[in-house]
Amino acid sequence: MMMNYPLTLQHAFKRATRIFPHKEIVTQTDGEPHRYTYADWGRRSMQLANALQKAGVEQSDRIATFAWNTYRHFELYFAVPCMGAVLHTLNIRLFAEQLVYIVNNAEDKIIFVDGDLVPVLERLADQFSSVKLYVIMGEAPHATGKLQPSVDYEEFIGDQPATYEWPELDENAAAAMCYTSGTTGNPKGVLYSHRSIYLHSIGSCFADGPALAERDVVYPLVPMFHANAWGFPHASAFVGAKLVLPGRFMDPLRVAKTMEQERVTFAAGVPTIWIGLLNLLDKEQFDFSALRIIISGGSAVPQALIEGLHHKGVTIVQAWGMTETSPLASVARLRASQEDLSLEEQFAIRARQGTMVPGVEFRVMDMETGQEVPWDNQTFGELQVRGPWIARAYYHDAESDAKFANGWLRTGDVAVVDKEGTIQLVDRTKDLVKSGGEWISSVEIEGLIMGHPKVLEACVVGIPHPKWSERPLACVVAKPAFIGQVTKEEIIEFLRPKVAKWWLPDDVIFVEAIPKTSVGKFDKKVLRNSYKTHNLA
Ligand code: ADP
Repeated sequence: MMMNYPLTLQHAFKRATRIFPHKEIVTQTDGEPHRYTYADWGRRSMQLANALQKAGVEQSDRIATFAWNTYRHFELYFAVPCMGAVLHTLNIRLFAEQLVYIVNNAEDKIIFVDGDLVPVLERLADQFSSVKLYVIMGEAPHATGKLQPSVDYEEFIGDQPATYEWPELDENAAAAMCYTSGTTGNPKGVLYSHRSIYLHSIGSCFADGPALAERDVVYPLVPMFHANAWGFPHASAFVGAKLVLPGRFMDPLRVAKTMEQERVTFAAGVPTIWIGLLNLLDKEQFDFSALRIIISGGSAVPQALIEGLHHKGVTIVQAWGMTETSPLASVARLRASQEDLSLEEQFAIRARQGTMVPGVEFRVMDMETGQEVPWDNQTFGELQVRGPWIARAYYHDAESDAKFANGWLRTGDVAVVDKEGTIQLVDRTKDLVKSGGEWISSVEIEGLIMGHPKVLEACVVGIPHPKWSERPLACVVAKPAFIGQVTKEEIIEFLRPKVAKWWLPDDVIFVEAIPKTSVGKFDKKVLRNSYKTHNLA
C-alpha cells in the first residue's frame, strides 16, 4: 500500500522555497516594479505566520484580505492556510451590503487591506461583527483612522522570526474561501480544502489543460479575490514558476508593456481584458515573442477574439469553470485528430468550452425530462459536474440543496455536447432569451456581432415583449475609430446569413460601454434593468 501523504499547501510552500529560492516574484506598482525571490517570500510568509499566531489566530479562523494582486497578498495565500487558518479573499468591488453580509457570515477575525482600499472598508467597519484587527498593507493616504485597531503590515511582521514549524494538517481542512458574486440572493461562500487546491494545482499543470510549468512566467490578471486568481498563484508555487503580479494595473497598455518587459509566457484573464488588448495591438506593436498562451474564461471567448489574436501571433485558449469548481473544469484545446483541419474549423473548435480535464466528470441533463441529453451537439440541457475540486455545499447557507443535487453540482449553465464529448455553452439559464416558447442563445448572437470589424464589444439580453414574452436586444460598443459610423442595419445584415431569422435582435442600440460585473464580465442584469421598457417595435 502507498503512503497516506497529506495533500496540503505546505508541500508547495516547502518545494518552492527549497528548490526555487532564486526564482522571481514581481509586482507592478506606481513606480518601479517590486521584485523579490521565492526565498524572500518564504521568509516573510513565515514571519507573517508568527505574527498571526502572536495575534491569537487559531486553526480554522477566517483571515480576510481586501486587496489587489500583490506579493503581500501572495504571502497571505500560503502563510494563512499553512498554519491551519482559512484565507478569505473579499471581492473589493462588491456592494456595501454584500460585503457586510460576507464578512459577518464568514466571521472574519482579521482583515488585511491594501492602503488605497482603506476608505472603502472604513465606510463599513462599524457593521462588521467579528473583526478584531485590521492590517494595512502599504501607504493609506486617504485613511481617516476609522479602522480600529489597526497595524501596518510591515510592522506586524517586522520583528518576527523568519522560521515557522507548520503544524500537521488534515488534507481535508479548509484552506481558503471565496464568495461568488451572487446574481440572486445573498452571495454564496465556497470553502476550498488543502486537498482540493493541491489537486486543482496539478490539474492546472496537465499538458492538455493550461499546462503551467516551471519555465513559465505567469501573469494572472484575474483578481486574487476571484476564485483564487483561477488557482494560478497556487500552481505557480507548486512548480516554481516566475510570477508577475499586476497590482491594480490592468489597463491594456500597462498589460502589453508588462508582458513585453517581463517576457511573460502565460497570462490569464477574462475576455474583456483581451478585447482591450487586441484593440491596442491594432495601433501599436509589442514584442510578445515569449508569450506561449493566454488562458481566458469566466465568460464566452468570442471566436472573433481567438481569430484576431491569432493573426497577431497570440494564442488564446478558452477554459470554462466557476468559483464552485475551483475553477478549472474544461479546456478547449485541439485534439490530435483536429490538427490538420482548416484554420476556420480550428477556430470554431477553440470557441467551444472544450473537454473536461482529467478529474472532472460531467453530464448534461435535459431540463424537462431529467435524462442525459444525447451527444448530438444540438439537444441542450443543464451542465452538471463532480470531482475532487468541485464544491459540495455552500458555507453556512440553507439554500445549498437545490444547487447540489445527488452529488452533482448544478452549474446553471446550458450546454450541448458533440460526439467527441466536448461541450459548448449555449447560455446561462437565466440569460437565455425565451421567445415564443423557444430559446435563443444570447452568447451566440453577441459572439457573432463581435466578429463585425467595426465592433469592439456586444452584449445581448432578453427584453419583455407583449407577444413573444421576450425578444433579443443587442447593445453594441463601436471601436473608437467607428463611433457613429456603424448602423443597426449593418449589424442585422451581418447577422442575417449566420442565424435563424427569428434569432435576429429586434433592436440594436449603440452604447459607450457595456456595464461590467465586479469581476469584469458583461453585466446582463444591469442591461436588462436599464432596457426593460425599451420599445422593441
Ligand atoms: P459569477 O456568477 O460571479 O460570474 P463565477 O466567476 O463563478 O461567478 O462564474 C461562473 C460562470 O461564468 C459559469 O457558470 C459560466 O456561466 C460563466 N463562464 C465561465 N467560463 C466560461 C466560458 N469559457 N464560456 C462561457 N461562460 C463561462
